[in-house]
Amino acid sequence: MAKLSKKQLASLQKKLARRPKPAWDQAGPAVREEIMSLGEDYKEFLDQAKTERMAVQAVAKMARRAGFKTPGSKTAGRKLLVPYKDKVIALAVLGRRKPSAGLRIIGAHSDAPRLDLKMHPLYEDQELAFLKTHYYGGIKKYQWLARPLAIHGVICRADGQTVQVHLGDDPADPVFTLLDLLPHLSRKSQGQKKVSVAFEAERMNLLLAGLPVDSDQKGEKVKLAVLQYLNRKYGVVEADLISAELEIVPAGPARDVGLDRCMVGGYGQDDRACCFSAVRAILGVKNPAVTCVSLLVDKEEIGSDGSTGAKSRFLEQLTATLLEAAGEKASYLNVTRALAETRAISADVNAAFDPDFPEVHEKRNAAYLGYGVTLTKYTGSGGKYGASDANPEYLAWLRKVWDRAKVPWQAAGMGKIDEGGGGTIAKLLAVYGMEIVDAGPALFNMHSPFEISHKADIHATVKAFEAFFAAGLK
Ligand code: MN
Ligand code: MN
Repeated sequence: MAKLSKKQLASLQKKLARRPKPAWDQAGPAVREEIMSLGEDYKEFLDQAKTERMAVQAVAKMARRAGFKTPGSKTAGRKLLVPYKDKVIALAVLGRRKPSAGLRIIGAHSDAPRLDLKMHPLYEDQELAFLKTHYYGGIKKYQWLARPLAIHGVICRADGQTVQVHLGDDPADPVFTLLDLLPHLSRKSQGQKKVSVAFEAERMNLLLAGLPVDSDQKGEKVKLAVLQYLNRKYGVVEADLISAELEIVPAGPARDVGLDRCMVGGYGQDDRACCFSAVRAILGVKNPAVTCVSLLVDKEEIGSDGSTGAKSRFLEQLTATLLEAAGEKASYLNVTRALAETRAISADVNAAFDPDFPEVHEKRNAAYLGYGVTLTKYTGSGGKYGASDANPEYLAWLRKVWDRAKVPWQAAGMGKIDEGGGGTIAKLLAVYGMEIVDAGPALFNMHSPFEISHKADIHATVKAFEAFFAAGLK
């Protein structure tokens, strides 16, 4: 055989090999404009969705504006909105095919790593008031010290009233912070320790206030001044803090990152990037062949346990509701059939290859920032323990769907095999027998107060989810 010419080699490469390209390079002028304008909507969503409750509220608002209604209501049509305990929400569009023949689900999680408050959080020390925190999810504790923080959440009073608390994100608000040691004095207490022990959870106390109530008497007068403020503003007393869900999160809005503004920096992008993308995708669904569902669940960051996590039976109840709305019998058989015949995406983020820490990644199987939505066949750790390993038959269908729709996508694992690992809700939905695989944008700084995404990846994720909803069965 004759030696291949330069042109022949290139054409053979193109025909046989796969080489992912940056999503921006694949985009024409119109798509580039779309990428940047979607970035604006995305930042706005992140700012509104600082907690899972706020995410659910923001999504419900978007959905209602787009004509989604609660099932059972008089005006309910084929676009349905199903909230659950204020911390989970599902948006569904009924398809032409019966739901019992299978659904199409995109599942993302609306919770993000943060600091919660303890049950007895408020105390006074050295004429200053503090709140004791309890971290939620996998955080690197030092990233949360000495930075502006906000408080969002609810306090549920014994009289049955729930009051909303939002402090620190309105530019007119004060912010709060956790104290850290000055470098001049931290040589022993932090500097000589391993990072894992140098920063202690019990020292993560939120600096809240410093002025006392006016009195010549002794007593915890700053703590009392805080209680007086809370009582005047929210009508609460100290005992109400036991029945509160107040979350400490980074204060301030999401920002453009980079001279060219191609990236978004901000808190909670794991996994609100996928919440945003899943919701954007379903808002545009019209008269689908298969019933489409975007489901946002809570508690993923602490193992998906509890009534609002993916391990709860909410999905079965949701499926029964959809069967009923479509005029089918919500029998056990129909519910289990519908779920077993479902095709799903576990929408979650992956880690982008970090050029400053190349040693933790396996460069041939890493996700790259800006290379489009990342398809992750399996998660887990070590010898695939705890993994939901997607079926190749299903992957073949999905990549065909994406290629047809010209979605920029890449396939990647997370990190070197024995470096660490992580899981998603994929395995919890897979128990029903549905086909499911992980997909979402790759991030830098995952789980930090300032996570970084690429606007072209967010755009690609929305496009990937739209194509998934729109695709036929073949
Ligand atoms: Mn996640
Ligand atoms: Mn996470």
